[in-house]
Amino acid sequence: MSLTSFLRLPFLLSLLSLQIYYAFPLPPLPTRSTSILSNSANEIPSPIHRRSTPLPSSSNTSVPLLTLTLPSNQQYHLLNSLNHTKLSLFAQLKTGSSIPKENLQFTNSTLSSPQVEITSSYNSGNLLVTSSTPLTSFILSQNIHQRGSMSDSGIPVYNEKNVTRSTVETYCRRLICLESEDKEKVWKEVEGVVGRECLENLKSKHKLKKSLQHFGSTFKSHFPYYYGTCSKCGCKSEFLGFKVTEEGEEMKSSRREIYFCGECREFDFFERYNTLLPIIKSRRGRCGEYSMLTYTLLSLYHPTRWIIDWNDHVWIEVEIEDEWIHFDPCEGIVDDKDLYRKWGKVGKVVVAFWRKGVEDVTGEYFEGGEERRKGEEVEEAVVLGGDILREEFGDEE
Ligand SMILES: [Zn+2]
Repeated sequence: MSLTSFLRLPFLLSLLSLQIYYAFPLPPLPTRSTSILSNSANEIPSPIHRRSTPLPSSSNTSVPLLTLTLPSNQQYHLLNSLNHTKLSLFAQLKTGSSIPKENLQFTNSTLSSPQVEITSSYNSGNLLVTSSTPLTSFILSQNIHQRGSMSDSGIPVYNEKNVTRSTVETYCRRLICLESEDKEKVWKEVEGVVGRECLENLKSKHKLKKSLQHFGSTFKSHFPYYYGTCSKCGCKSEFLGFKVTEEGEEMKSSRREIYFCGECREFDFFERYNTLLPIIKSRRGRCGEYSMLTYTLLSLYHPTRWIIDWNDHVWIEVEIEDEWIHFDPCEGIVDDKDLYRKWGKVGKVVVAFWRKGVEDVTGEYFEGGEERRKGEEVEEAVVLGGDILREEFGDEE
């Protein structure tokens, strides 16, 4: 196999899985030890101190790509021993520059315990994960909660029931974090962006649907969906990978997506923040960020639910005249529960989270969706989630 095709295939696969990953809100902050942070990790330029990147031409710098094979036999190439020079070479490689073959050093994953070792390398900032699949199924699952047991090889053995339960649990915890935000402050900050009148109308129940429509289109124009375009020239940047964010480097960002613009030869960064103020400041987000933000605003004055579609999307619902009204902040669309069906999506599990509990709302968005998820144990997960939220918020009226 030629070098080019060897490198391209996993990248194409990674782009496919990336589509799914992009949409999701962030799981809780991974727990990690700061004592193993290496100096080399700090060589990666921070988004605040962006600099143009003269790519290294030195022939003695290798790009150590670690080959990881998942149980599904999908192979991923992760950039190991991360530093600025290696990342630059990698960016060069991905934007089509030819690199002397001796600069590329491939290491096969012969780690005795891949999950533990790769997770530890990622957590210490030494690993760039080039695709979402190894990150979500391999690293974050180890960081956040054990999804199922481990086989002898250290590869996690998935258990559908545990996945559903732990996913519900993850979103409950996230909702609890959202509820602890200073909502008044969030409101003020957003007001500074979209204008006072736009938000003021949202306070009243009167003509709320109409106010929501106005807010939706205004919000969308001020908080555009982040598609990975270069912030300097607007060209589509090349996605390089995910990297853990060092403690204190950015306020409560769980990880950083690194992009490289082939035109400007500059790195660009998309921080996946867990808190709202940096999202408002950066005005960069996808459905995860914007659903959390609009949930927080609307829930200040009206019963509001956070709606998670397990596949790849997140939005909210606001109660208007005893009815849960759909609101998609990325699209600026109100009251169109057929929207996702019209997109051609096939729903399997859609769950609503709010202070009073958890509800399976699949049927409201996807006709027959309930029948497509044999073995997912959604009912049990919903009961478990309800217990978590009731324990936190009590039985509110
Ligand atoms: Zn550019």
